[in-house]
Amino acid sequence: MLARLLITMLGVMPRPIIRRVAGRYIAGDNKEDAILLAAQLNRDGFAVTIDHLGEDVTQADQARRELDAYRELMAAMTAAGVDRNISIKLTQLGLRQDPGLAFALFEKLLAAAGADDFFVRIDMEDSSVTDATLDFYERGRAIWPRIGTVLQARLRRTAEDAARLAQAGASFRLCKGIYLEPPELAYQDPGRINAAYMDVLTILLDAGAHVAIATHDAQLIAQSRFLVKTHPGAIGRHEFQALLGVPIRNTLESLRREGHVVRIYLPFGQDWYAYSLRRLRENPRIAVQIAGSLFRRDRLAKNPPEPP
Ligand SMILES: Cc1cc2nc3c(=O)[nH]c(=O)nc-3n(C[C@H](O)[C@H](O)[C@H](O)COP(=O)(O)OP(=O)(O)OC[C@H]3O[C@@H](n4cnc5c(N)ncnc54)[C@H](O)[C@@H]3O)c2cc1C
Repeated sequence: MLARLLITMLGVMPRPIIRRVAGRYIAGDNKEDAILLAAQLNRDGFAVTIDHLGEDVTQADQARRELDAYRELMAAMTAAGVDRNISIKLTQLGLRQDPGLAFALFEKLLAAAGADDFFVRIDMEDSSVTDATLDFYERGRAIWPRIGTVLQARLRRTAEDAARLAQAGASFRLCKGIYLEPPELAYQDPGRINAAYMDVLTILLDAGAHVAIATHDAQLIAQSRFLVKTHPGAIGRHEFQALLGVPIRNTLESLRREGHVVRIYLPFGQDWYAYSLRRLRENPRIAVQIAGSLFRRDRLAKNPPEPP
């Protein structure tokens, strides 16, 4: 009850409180912070994908700067020898404002990715940009094949999208979907979303696609683990993914020891606010953590982000 109330109030809470409580989900302000953590996770046997936080960019100049930031990020990751894998949101390249410019910038991003052999994952945003995101993904594959996007089990359309797009060589991250969508577009019932998740995972594996199983839901992880083991040809065409800061380290360790690739999503940057609100909304311990942050300011402010 208190948690639900706090969640509705997150948007009016002072930013320093949000930053403090959400600190565990963010690798840091700069690419160096993210790369340092990536190197540590790589040494521990985890794969990573790095996301330069940003979305809903409305100015062309800013969209160009976002591209530059990604180019610099890829150069620094290459120099540091960490996993060559990035995640990006298309509205960061100005998709909502000017899809033509956004695609031109995306092409340049893919050229840079191709030059250094990076995998590029296009994150999925709310349903107003689903079509455009899938379109960029399909057109992008013709430019640089090592790209993938995300499918959201919550959306009613997703099983059809999966059936249409899945094929050998295609790559999808499968998640529940974080954006609040109306009942006409999205399942609202948690059990229905989980059932849809497993249906879509089966469609993707049947079609020969690569799937990143991105969930912290213990039941879905167990079911997916079983499906991958029993589905002919699925091993090696899958990986598990988790967000930095979600406390499921033991599960991830056990998946890794079993031989699964486990990739941690590492977001960094100054534009942390919208991402942080989304993470706090789904944190079941939100009330405890906000209360803790109010009473233990100094200690939390100095704490580095925790691995998941
Ligand atoms: C690698 C990765 C990439 C993603 N990319 C996208 C994307 O591109 N587009 C998109 O819409 N969504 C994306 N998501 C978010 C996803 O859609 C869900 O919103 C998110 O993963 C929570 O759903 P869940 O599957 O973990 O299940 P839930 O039922 O929400 O959570 C299961 C359990 O995990 C724990 N947990 C979950 N979230 C938190 C948290 N923030 N803090 C603490 N504990 C938590 C809790 O114990 C909870 O009970 C991504 C998720 C991952 C893991």
